[in-house]
Amino acid sequence: MERNFFFDIHCHVMTLDHPNFINLLGSLEGGWLDLVNGGILSPSYILTDDNRKGMKMVYSVMNTLGAFEQPIDKTFWMMDQDLHGAFLREGFIGGKVYAPSKGGFEFRGSSYNKVALGLQLMDFSRDQSEYDNIYYKRTQLERINDYAMDTVRAIGKYHKDHPDGLFEFVPFIGVNPAVHSKRFIANLLERYVNTDRLENPSDEKRIFGGVKVYPPLGMNPWPEDSREEMEKVRLLYEFCQAYQIPITTHCDNQGFRGVSSKMLGQYTSPFTWAKVLKEYPDLVIDFAHFGYQYGLASDVKSRIPNGLPMKGEWFDKIISLMKEYPSVYTDLSYTGCMPEFYRSLILFLKQQNPDDRALILGRILFGSDFSVNLMKVQSYLEYYHILDDSGFDDGEVQGFVQKNPMKFLRMDWT
Ligand SMILES: [Zn+2]
Repeated sequence: MERNFFFDIHCHVMTLDHPNFINLLGSLEGGWLDLVNGGILSPSYILTDDNRKGMKMVYSVMNTLGAFEQPIDKTFWMMDQDLHGAFLREGFIGGKVYAPSKGGFEFRGSSYNKVALGLQLMDFSRDQSEYDNIYYKRTQLERINDYAMDTVRAIGKYHKDHPDGLFEFVPFIGVNPAVHSKRFIANLLERYVNTDRLENPSDEKRIFGGVKVYPPLGMNPWPEDSREEMEKVRLLYEFCQAYQIPITTHCDNQGFRGVSSKMLGQYTSPFTWAKVLKEYPDLVIDFAHFGYQYGLASDVKSRIPNGLPMKGEWFDKIISLMKEYPSVYTDLSYTGCMPEFYRSLILFLKQQNPDDRALILGRILFGSDFSVNLMKVQSYLEYYHILDDSGFDDGEVQGFVQKNPMKFLRMDWT
């Protein structure tokens, strides 16, 4: 098959079996003050002005949980049908459909034969010791294997049930080194990661094209005060650098959380990752969400209109890491729910010299953060409309959705 794909490099499809809700409750340990200081109530995160009014927030939560309630392959089909316009009806945003009935996908003047989903699996496994105070101790805390196998089966089922379906898949295996042994991590990578980059790997499990890490769940990317912990992260970075396997790291100051907001800040920060890149300069890494920090003065929803990201902030650090290292990327997932962010990014890019501008534009990946993004948009389709309506030109958009993700994934087919 001709692999002329449109990539959504960052999305999540999971069921209620997969997240560990103790993680979410854990984020309340620091009390409400911690939560508020963490910026979750900042006007641009979840409680948007629209959401505050009346019932909209309730509908958003119902819409989001609905996508968690059904089996994974059903959600793939729901997204597929959404891009075909199957759910469009009066009272909802939209109109434009990108998947014409004759097949394929058309976006901003380019045609693609498939939409490839970069499924980012999160490793919700916990350390057994954290369950000491809990009466019903669980025996199976290594959730990532179940989640990975559910995903593999769902992909198989989707292809079988819908041979002409719109989607292809590039899953990323979640790993939280802090809660596993070195041996477990090595086995996980060996079992699932498609290091040979075969289109049809002989083992049906080895279809994972990348690794997902999620520092807010307790992963310190550079735990220099512990030899044992350092050995675990080094194993991961060495493997990924050697095989040029891309890593996606969550990089905004919100999301699921297993640690306090102060630690979240430290673990998630691209300033911490700079230490990793110093020793592993050829690591292929995507700082997700463009490092967006909610609640700061530069927040696009703050009083300053068209606020630009400020010096010293995560956004700024990601840009400087891109200039320093050849394989540092960022993605537009979730942050791209805000048209204001696209406007501010375009303004920022205009202020760069032509070389820097081209370099940065070559490192931006389109991602949706579906189904988490349903907290802020009505549908998967609406998220595509926001990119379509942005001021980026067609060539730039094609870079975000095809050229750059192919470089990031090291897929040397054209
Ligand atoms: Zn995400």
